[in-house]
Amino acid sequence: MRYCARCFYPENAKPTIIFDEEGVCSGCRYHESRGKLEIDWSKREKMFDRIVDQAGKMRKARGNSHDCIIPVSGGKDSHFQVWLLKKKYGLNPLLVTFNHAYNSPAGLRNLENLVERSGCDHVRYTAGLDSVRRVSRYMLETVGDLTWHYHAGIRTFPFQVAVQYNIPLIVWGEHGFAELTGIVSLEDFVEFTCWTRKEHDMRGYEPADLIGKGGITLGDVLPYIYPDDEKIEKCEVKGIYLSNFFNWDAKPQAEFMIKEWGFSPVSYERERTFNLYAKIEDHANDVHDYLKYLKFGYGRATDDASMEVRHGRMTREQGLSMIQRYDGRPPSSLETYCDFLGLGPETFYQLVDPMRDPLIWQKDKTGEWTPMDAVFGHETGPDEETQRVRQAEDRTFGMANRHLYYNPDNPPLPLGDPRLDERPMGFKAL
Ligand SMILES: [Zn+2]
Repeated sequence: MRYCARCFYPENAKPTIIFDEEGVCSGCRYHESRGKLEIDWSKREKMFDRIVDQAGKMRKARGNSHDCIIPVSGGKDSHFQVWLLKKKYGLNPLLVTFNHAYNSPAGLRNLENLVERSGCDHVRYTAGLDSVRRVSRYMLETVGDLTWHYHAGIRTFPFQVAVQYNIPLIVWGEHGFAELTGIVSLEDFVEFTCWTRKEHDMRGYEPADLIGKGGITLGDVLPYIYPDDEKIEKCEVKGIYLSNFFNWDAKPQAEFMIKEWGFSPVSYERERTFNLYAKIEDHANDVHDYLKYLKFGYGRATDDASMEVRHGRMTREQGLSMIQRYDGRPPSSLETYCDFLGLGPETFYQLVDPMRDPLIWQKDKTGEWTPMDAVFGHETGPDEETQRVRQAEDRTFGMANRHLYYNPDNPPLPLGDPRLDERPMGFKAL
């Protein structure tokens, strides 16, 4: 397997990445392009000012009380998006949450915090557990994804609310696919479309494709049905990404929201990564991420270490040791999910087996699957030496970041709240 000479992504990474002649991946090049001078961020902020003006005018013309919708989970990005639009731009956003029922206590604590601190109106739709179980199990069996309903709901329900309340603007945070693997450029000004929703977030499946399968009814998939063209055109709703207009940087934004609005990281060691402040809202992330490992041989620690390396906050060697520590570790929540879905753990693994990438996985003589390759098994060669990123003063495992990244030699101090200090065992719908 080929790995990026700078970060740790393998060439079978999903979504697709491309390596250039220097052996550097498109995600690293995208990251680099964000720091280049030719992007005039002040010009982009002015473009955003015009969007804000337009939203205010449309609110008045329509007799609405909300200028826009912000889809929120309660995470660091939600906090920043709401703060930016409400505090900096003085808008009145309507917060919309699709509750997928896979919440962690830390996620619920942070969502509660966001609603309280922002003072914004909030609409929350909770998917019924029977429907979640049916949809989740069917999609696990079909494409090896137990969070399909969750991505589908997060990406669709805000449009249903937009149409219902006649609010023409939905403001997303980061264009996540771009940041991870660089498949689009900053020059594209990508907007949210029904097509990207289906292809990127819903694995090419529309809700109608699920009806009649695994006992799934129309009622089970209603929150995932995109409003019809006529309604979308009448509302003139569009979805934009803030990362096209602001120099998006997750770490300083998270630190700012901790200080400004009391967003909180967790203090316990997570099972699949050293990062304590990103994607802590639900623990389906752990099983979801483990599935990625079982299929492609890499997981969240690869994502997080790659990001730290691109920022120069972590050396290549530190990144490799994090990947070795976390990527192959099965999450303890796997059993909880299997129970919820009515599957034995053996069935879970049997379902995944045909989805394993044969370039990574092979069955040994005892019938056990073993990875044939891993990034930490490769020696650091001349290409990797050439591509080393200049080290920043801000160190991932420096004292100032003790609460943001789990360092086994210097773990964070407890926060005095069991929702943040104890690794959750079950999951909570409400
Ligand atoms: Zn790379």
